Amino acid sequence: MTRGLLVVIAGPSGVGKGTVHARLRATLPDAVLSVSATTRAARPREVDGVHYRFLDRLGFEAMVTRGELLEWAEYAGNLYGTPRGPVAEAVADGKVVLLDIEVQGALQVREQDPDALLVFLAPPSFDELERRLRQRGTEDDVAVAARLEVARRELAQRDAFDQVVVNDDLERCVAEVRDAIAAARTG
Ligand code: 5GP
Repeated sequence: MTRGLLVVIAGPSGVGKGTVHARLRATLPDAVLSVSATTRAARPREVDGVHYRFLDRLGFEAMVTRGELLEWAEYAGNLYGTPRGPVAEAVADGKVVLLDIEVQGALQVREQDPDALLVFLAPPSFDELERRLRQRGTEDDVAVAARLEVARRELAQRDAFDQVVVNDDLERCVAEVRDAIAAARTG
């Protein structure tokens, strides 16, 4: 059996993490995406248990207290965290477990699992990030401004990652991540 691996793909909101994850899952048969818990309200078309596990703050804090989260962080006024159990089971089962998380959480994963592969997905430029975030249209102007503010801090932390991949060309970007995963699984 090929070695299981925890792969974090972090980077600012709007950089295209979701698209890269979807492409990776389409091309890596043994990759699974971890479903995070969050206190954020569901967006239209988001399904509880599929896109996120949507919880109120008390429910989320109870998971923290019980030690059920591998990592967690506050992001733009909401809490987000990775349930520990499903991740551990899938890694033990030889799967590549993909985490789509922000930077503070990614750095906590490094402490929890030194073998994890940490990839930072960077935009070609800050202006391009702003354009993508506005084009996505899932947040109002105030929320976009908050996300851009966080993005500036996140970009400054890119050197703490194993690999920085610039998301300008999707296929090249996915190929780079796939190569890094293959190297980490054999290394
Ligand atoms: P969104 O609200 O756009 O779905 O996510 C906001 C940010 O939270 C994104 O950068 C996303 O990657 C991050 N995020 C999603 N799930 C988790 C999680 O479980 N832990 C952490 N630390 N960040 C997460």
